[in-house]
Amino acid sequence: MKKIMLTGDRPTGRLHVGHYVGSLRRRVELQNTGDFDDIFIMIADAQALTDNADNPEKVRQNIIEVALDYLACGLDPEKSTLFIQSQVPELCELSFYYMNLVTVSRLQRNPTVKSEIQMRNFEASIPVGFFTYPISQAADITAFKATVVPVGEDQMPMLEQTKEIVHKFNSVYGETLVEPKILLPDNEACLRLPGTDGKAKMSKSLGNCIYLSEEPEDIKKKVFSMFTDPTHIRVEDPGRLEGNTVFTYLDAFCRPEYFAEFLPEYKDLDELKAHYKRGGLGDMKVKRFLNNVLQAELEPIRNRRKEFQKDIPAVYEILKKGSKKAEQVAAQTLKEVKAAMKIDYFSDEALIREQAEKFAEE
Ligand code: ATP
Ligand code: MG
Repeated sequence: MKKIMLTGDRPTGRLHVGHYVGSLRRRVELQNTGDFDDIFIMIADAQALTDNADNPEKVRQNIIEVALDYLACGLDPEKSTLFIQSQVPELCELSFYYMNLVTVSRLQRNPTVKSEIQMRNFEASIPVGFFTYPISQAADITAFKATVVPVGEDQMPMLEQTKEIVHKFNSVYGETLVEPKILLPDNEACLRLPGTDGKAKMSKSLGNCIYLSEEPEDIKKKVFSMFTDPTHIRVEDPGRLEGNTVFTYLDAFCRPEYFAEFLPEYKDLDELKAHYKRGGLGDMKVKRFLNNVLQAELEPIRNRRKEFQKDIPAVYEILKKGSKKAEQVAAQTLKEVKAAMKIDYFSDEALIREQAEKFAEE
């Protein structure tokens, strides 16, 4: 069976370090293994409109931001198809048919959608499009026959919903759709990177992000005001690692070589953690180290982004070309779906003959 990857992001803002460790970094690694037959990376503008219907300009402005972040991180249009969801209308058609295979109560049980509804104060009036976006996501994944979907932990319920739709479709209409596999980050800290406030997941909608394109001074400011252990007041106090955002970020970003470069008095992260827990290690020192680590990780990304920013029409051209290719692939799947559902009347010669015979007998 072919190995196909699909994943994407909503153009509701620039991409942040949570996206990077949750999915983006993995995509680039997988892309560069050369193991995949096809890779599709989608800018999910139609999905972003489900909760931004009154603000299409926000979505429109952020498409290029996301595309620049993709290219800056190393997604390569020669190896990966970068495309815009709304430019592939077949995805809407697939969603429409999948809607018949999902119940309202099943959608109501989706824990990610539940918490997103709460976050957006949608309780009293949820837009239908938003409520059903897990179905549209199933269309996105299955349209490309994706076998692997690298995403953060919040996407688990969406992948479950997709698998259910695949099973239901295949059992009702015959083997047509391919079941995808979720690929979660293998590092625990990256499953759901917290925001700089230490509270919820880092999220564009919550304003607790460090963006991939952030300038060095701003990264530093955000790191130095980050949430740590509120009971760790004096340097000599023992510190806690649980819920300590600075250490979570070190878990997510620190490479062994950074110790030799920035903090040679420690061998590795375990030694640094042990000292913090014991007491005698101040937050400032750990924050200085994290700042150095993040600066080292983000500098090449920021610089590459600035290069791509110099030719914006070329970036739109990449998306246009990608969208065209994506549409061809989705159209083929849609054709197979409609044939399986027997709603391909004009290419169904048996149907036409059968009807002709039926009326000839009258
Ligand atoms: P929005 O608030 O508009 O939903 P978002 O920041 O949640 O934006 P998405 O575009 O919804 O970003 O998510 C894109 C991808 O990034 C998904 O695979 C998601 O799992 C992953 N992701 C988003 N935030 C994080 C995070 N804090 N930690 C790990 N992965 C994340
Ligand atoms: Mg999200």
